[in-house]
Amino acid sequence: MSEFATRQIQAGYVPGTPQNSAVPPIYQTAAYQFSSLADAADLFALRTTGNLYSRNASPTQQVLEERVAALEGGASAVAVASGQAAVAVTLLALVGVRGHIVAANQLYGGTVDLFQDTFEDFGIGVTFVDQDDPDAWRAAIRPETRALFAESVANPVAQVLDIGLVADIAHEAGVPLVIDNTVGTPYLVRPGEHGADFVVHSATKFLSGHGTSLGGVVVDQGTFDFGAEPDRWPQFTAPYKRFGELVLWERFGIGQAFAALVKSKYVHDLGPSLSPFNAWQILQGIETLDLRVSRQSATALAVARFLAEHPSVSRVNHPGLEGNPWHGLTQRYLPDGVPSVFSFDLAGPADEGAQERVGRVIDALRVVRLVANIGDARSLVAHPASMTHSHLNAEQREAAGISLTTIRLSAGLEDPRDLIADLDQALAKA
Ligand SMILES: *Cc1c(COP(=O)(O)O)cnc(C)c1O
Repeated sequence: MSEFATRQIQAGYVPGTPQNSAVPPIYQTAAYQFSSLADAADLFALRTTGNLYSRNASPTQQVLEERVAALEGGASAVAVASGQAAVAVTLLALVGVRGHIVAANQLYGGTVDLFQDTFEDFGIGVTFVDQDDPDAWRAAIRPETRALFAESVANPVAQVLDIGLVADIAHEAGVPLVIDNTVGTPYLVRPGEHGADFVVHSATKFLSGHGTSLGGVVVDQGTFDFGAEPDRWPQFTAPYKRFGELVLWERFGIGQAFAALVKSKYVHDLGPSLSPFNAWQILQGIETLDLRVSRQSATALAVARFLAEHPSVSRVNHPGLEGNPWHGLTQRYLPDGVPSVFSFDLAGPADEGAQERVGRVIDALRVVRLVANIGDARSLVAHPASMTHSHLNAEQREAAGISLTTIRLSAGLEDPRDLIADLDQALAKA
């Protein structure tokens, strides 16, 4: 296969329409015309695959799916309307109702909401563990556990996961490891190379890269054999209720059956479909992924070094800095750079007055913007305790490494000198 930068421009698309469009076209159509009734019947029965209705797939989306699968080194992918949808359909397909997930404490706030509120309503149990504690992962696994879940690099504290270690624990227990690689990006780390079986993305962030479009993707690395313990995975190995005697594992096999289940059941039934326009925007973003991510990574490290020396900053959570607890893991997992999403704590007590102090600094920023997003071309800050992680209780926030004075920064593509000058003048207000 070709190199990363070539794949991010070419994978998944061969100009093949009569118009020979050099750039993948936006297929802005809700549905597709069948050549005959027999062809339509084959498509509906999953005897053949092809375009049917845009809730399930569109050709623009298929290019995106193949491209992200190629960047992650995976076998297949499913693109959906958002990162939340990608996480939800992935785990519904693996875990089903009444199953159980072991997840890291250090997760995106929206994922925590999904796990401990909506999934709980569905009867899906989630046990949260410290992702750096292998014994905690092992101890939390139950007979009904069907997946382990963590982020390659967590946000906002930028803890780097020992993916290989957690993958081994998952595989000893006979369950797949699902990694959210939104912050890591496939340019900096490919979790599949370290044992992860499924990789999810909020494509809204670095893949899209310009803060314009929501989207989500899940990649099946083609490594997890649901046929090895068929009784455990009836959704793949038993006849598929709505399709008569069809067994997904026999029909599609390793690396493809998962995508078939996600599309034909969860996306089909729940409807979190990606619009062709958003798929196209994300494809545009991916074409410059390596350039943006390497520049943002270098900028973030320069800003982190500046903050680490600043008297109004008590701590900088950036694993590229010497002495950071996860610095050692960056050598193994992030040899090409550390993600550009990190955080820092303002000096002074994390008490009642903290919110007001943080507000004075954030409201003084002029170049860096207060926006609840990451991976944008613009540099963005957020205050996790009152924004993205405001639904966590104090104990959960502490377990995730977030204090009332923690400020998250997602470095964009502006000149780092302007970012540093802006932060310097704003920190003077602390
Ligand atoms: C933003 C984000 C999500 C959710 O993605 P949306 O596209 O906003 O639905 C999931 N995981 C991580 C790590 C994120 O940053």
